Amino acid sequence: MDFCRLANGFRLVFQALTVKQEDKVGGCGQRKTVRMRRLNRPTVLLTVAYIIGLAVIGAMSITAHALLGAVIEEQSDEGHVLSVVGRQRMLVQRIAYLSERILRNPAAAQKKALMQAITEMDMAHHAMIEGDSAMGFPKTVPETVSEVLFAQPHELDRRVGTFLTFARFFSNEATVPKFSDDPAFQFIRAEADGPLLESFEVLVEAYGAHFLLLTDELVQLQRIILAVVILTLLAEGVLIFRPLVRRVHLYATRLQTMALSDPMTGVGNRRAFHDAAERELSVCDRKTVPLGLALLDIDKFKRINDTHGHAIGDEAIMHLCAVVKDTIRRNDILCRLGGEEFAVLLPGADAAETWQVAERMRVAVETQALILQNGQTLPFTTSIGCAVYLPGSGQSPVEADDSRVIDGLLVEADTALYRAKENGRNQVCGSEERLTAIA
Ligand code: GH3
Ligand code: MG
Ligand code: MG
Repeated sequence: MDFCRLANGFRLVFQALTVKQEDKVGGCGQRKTVRMRRLNRPTVLLTVAYIIGLAVIGAMSITAHALLGAVIEEQSDEGHVLSVVGRQRMLVQRIAYLSERILRNPAAAQKKALMQAITEMDMAHHAMIEGDSAMGFPKTVPETVSEVLFAQPHELDRRVGTFLTFARFFSNEATVPKFSDDPAFQFIRAEADGPLLESFEVLVEAYGAHFLLLTDELVQLQRIILAVVILTLLAEGVLIFRPLVRRVHLYATRLQTMALSDPMTGVGNRRAFHDAAERELSVCDRKTVPLGLALLDIDKFKRINDTHGHAIGDEAIMHLCAVVKDTIRRNDILCRLGGEEFAVLLPGADAAETWQVAERMRVAVETQALILQNGQTLPFTTSIGCAVYLPGSGQSPVEADDSRVIDGLLVEADTALYRAKENGRNQVCGSEERLTAIA
């Protein structure tokens, strides 16, 4: 990884988040301009909000993952517990069976097997009461389980204790009973025949209820987390991405307007003229209607600049713009090609109409003199050159591409404008052959 590139990347992100600001700092009567970078507040707020949103979603996802792990663990614990309790039931029956055999024939091997069963059952019972994570028993006895272990009618803890105590009599030479009517044997038989097994079954149900409750709680929590993640995503969309997209759209529109308009007059510039001309050309082509073009140039403009100054020259340019705008239709397009030269696109206008509009513009400029701030009037005139595009006349974009057709029209109108200047200015000229064809 190229370290310089990485550093450059960070610098670009920082630049995007900041704006240059020029602060004037006064000192000893001297004004000094200090360039500094300030964080662009809305952008930083959006970025911070975005990062917080991401952090929330990240934290929630990790928690959801952990919860899923916990649910899986709970389920495996439940499996362990059920298997241990099931084994306890089996041990009850085995202990009863071995005790009966020892009563009939007190062989050492059976006493040993009985002792093993007693020890196993005792250990599992202690694990249940004290908690054992390896066996899946929770640290504190759950409430539902506690009732079965310590409360009436089951009192499983006390009964298992008595059961094991009596069972131990059979594993010890000194205490092993001799007769089947011995109370210890009777107790073991009675419990193993059903009640103890049933109580263990109730215990299984109690553990089942406990684990179901835990899983339910975890699933509920997961649902809440999912809802928070969805809400955060929605909030990010509405509060962050929407304003962000709006800003980008706004900046793009502003940039586009700046790139296509003339800052002084506000009308389209040369680039906008070409865009509009290409667009109108294809529309006129489709509708098979003509497209008129008039090129305007202020007469002796240099003299206005020289006599009254550049600022008044600018005013004259803006005045011409206002007068022309008032003269043309709404769908006619006025653009400043440069200096004091303007182009007007007249969609649908044939040579005669183009000529008429051009003449109307010329008269309007001539008669509506610019009134200066000091009340003085500054009359000036324009010369206008016209050209017309006729679909299917050999200028068609099918035969030549759009920009070449527009360039051709501009040359034609410019030649006419040159002729208007040559002929004494303040007049309209057009492509001779087309205009004579109309006349
Ligand atoms: P003609 O009748 O032959 O057109 O004569 P002209 O004096 O108008 O000649 P030309 O069109 O060559 O002169 C254009 C002048 O317009 C030259 C330039 O100094 C001036 N100019 C160009 N852009 C601007 C502008 O934005 N503001 C001002 N005040 N003057 C400009
Ligand atoms: Mg000029
Ligand atoms: Mg001029």
